[in-house]
Amino acid sequence: MTSNNYEQLIGSIRELLAMRRRCPCGRVHETPTQQVVIGRGALDRLPQVISELKLTGAALLVADNNTFQAAGEQALSILRQAANDVEELLIEPESGQRQVEASELPIQLVGQKAADCHYLVAVGSGTINDIAKAASTQLGVPYVAVATAASMTGYSSGLAALTIAGIKQTVPATPPLAIIADTEIIAAAPRQMCAAGVGDLLSRSPSSTDWKLASVLRGDYFCPWIAQLAAQADRQCREAVGEICQGRRDALELLMSGLVLAGVAITMAQTSAPASGGGHLISHYWDMTAATRGRHHSLHGLQVALGDLICTTLYEKLWPRIGEIDVDRLVAARPPVAEFARQTHEHYAPLIGPEAAQQVTQTATSKYAIGDQLRRQLELVVSEPEGTWAQLEPLFTSGQRLRELFSKAGLPRTLGECGISLEEAECAYRFASRLRDRYTVLDLAYDLGLLDELYEEVFTEAGVVSQPAAQ
Ligand SMILES: [Zn+2]
Ligand SMILES: [Zn+2]
Repeated sequence: MTSNNYEQLIGSIRELLAMRRRCPCGRVHETPTQQVVIGRGALDRLPQVISELKLTGAALLVADNNTFQAAGEQALSILRQAANDVEELLIEPESGQRQVEASELPIQLVGQKAADCHYLVAVGSGTINDIAKAASTQLGVPYVAVATAASMTGYSSGLAALTIAGIKQTVPATPPLAIIADTEIIAAAPRQMCAAGVGDLLSRSPSSTDWKLASVLRGDYFCPWIAQLAAQADRQCREAVGEICQGRRDALELLMSGLVLAGVAITMAQTSAPASGGGHLISHYWDMTAATRGRHHSLHGLQVALGDLICTTLYEKLWPRIGEIDVDRLVAARPPVAEFARQTHEHYAPLIGPEAAQQVTQTATSKYAIGDQLRRQLELVVSEPEGTWAQLEPLFTSGQRLRELFSKAGLPRTLGECGISLEEAECAYRFASRLRDRYTVLDLAYDLGLLDELYEEVFTEAGVVSQPAAQ
C-alpha cells in the first residue's frame, strides 16, 4: 500500500515538473524544478543530476553545523570526487540567537561568498533551504536542494519563509532546479522532524479550507485544480502516518514525495494559501515571540499542528453560532480603521519594535473591512451558513480526525510540549491573523464578533491546554 501510494505521488510529481498548464483559474501553472530524486542512495546521484541540469563552474555548498554532519560533508566529498569545483559555507547562529534563522544576515553572507559561483547546493531542511532559496533568487543563480529531513513542504515551494526586520514572512523565491532526498539520511534525522513533516503536510486541509473561505467571502483567488493537487499530497500519506513515524524507509519516501508535491502545488498556485492558513499564522507568531524571549522555537510543522487544531476547532465552534448574528449591529459597532490600527500597533510594538509593528499594522488594516464591504462579506455567510459550509466541507477535516492523526504521528497535542505559554497562545489566537493580508477563520471569527467569546471553549475543546483555558 505504502509503496503503491509512493509510486502514484512520484508519478504525479514527474508529470507536473514537465507541465505548463494554462488554467481556467486564469493563471499559468508551472515550476522551474526539473528533477526530484527520492530514495536510498539518492545522494550518490548528485553529480549526475548536476551534470544533467548542465550546471557547470564553481559551486557553493551551504549548510549549518548539524546538516553538514548529516549530509554536507558526504555531499562535498561526492562532488569533489566527481571533479566538481565546490566550496562550502557553514552558517552559524547570529550572536544572541540560539539557532540559525533565515534572516537578512545569513542571506547576505551567502550572497558575498557566492558572488563568483554559478550555482548553490543547499544541504539542510527548513532554515538552510530558505536561506539558500532567498540568496539564489537574489543572485540570479540556480540551486539544488539536498534534504536532510522530511520536515516541511518548503523544499519545492516558490516561497521562502524569512525573518525580515523582526517580522516572520513568506516572500516569493525561485524553487530549486532539483531536490535530492536520500532516505538513509532522512531516516537518521531526529524522529521529531518527520512528525513535523506530517504536521506541515496535514496542514493542507485546514489551510485549503481557509483558502476557499477567502474566495467565497471576499472573491480572493482560488484554483480548484490546485486544491485537488494539494489534497492528493496529504491524502495518501494519511494512511501511512503510523509507519512514517516508525521511520520505515518506504513510508519516508511517501512522506517526502507528499511534501514535495504540496510544495509544487504552492509554486504552481503562486501562493502558499493551499497549504498555509490560520494555523501557519499562529506558528509564525510563535516564532516571533520565541525570538523576542530568547527561547528556542519548536519545529515549524509541530507548531503548525497546534495552530491547526485551534483553527479547526474554531470552525467547529463558530458555524453553529452564525445563525444568531445580527449583521446590522455588527457593522454599526465595528471599530473605525484608526482604532483597529491603534490596537494592532499597541500589541506588536513591544514585541517587534515600532517600525516592524507599523508594517504589520499596514498589512492588517489592508484586509480590515468596514461599512458596506463588511456587510456584504458577512451577509454572504450569515444569510446562508449551510450553503457556505457546503462549499468548505469537502476541504475540511474535523478536529477529532486531526487529533487521531496527530496522535498516530507522535505530534505534540499541547502547548507545553512546544514550550508555548498559554498567554503566548492566547495572543496568537487574537493577533496572529494581522501578520498577513490573508483571510482565514481567525478573521471571520473576529468579524463576526465571536473570536474573544469563543476563546475558552476553543482552547479547551482543541485539547491544546492540559488545564481548561480559564484565566
Ligand atoms: Zn488554476
Ligand atoms: Zn508550512
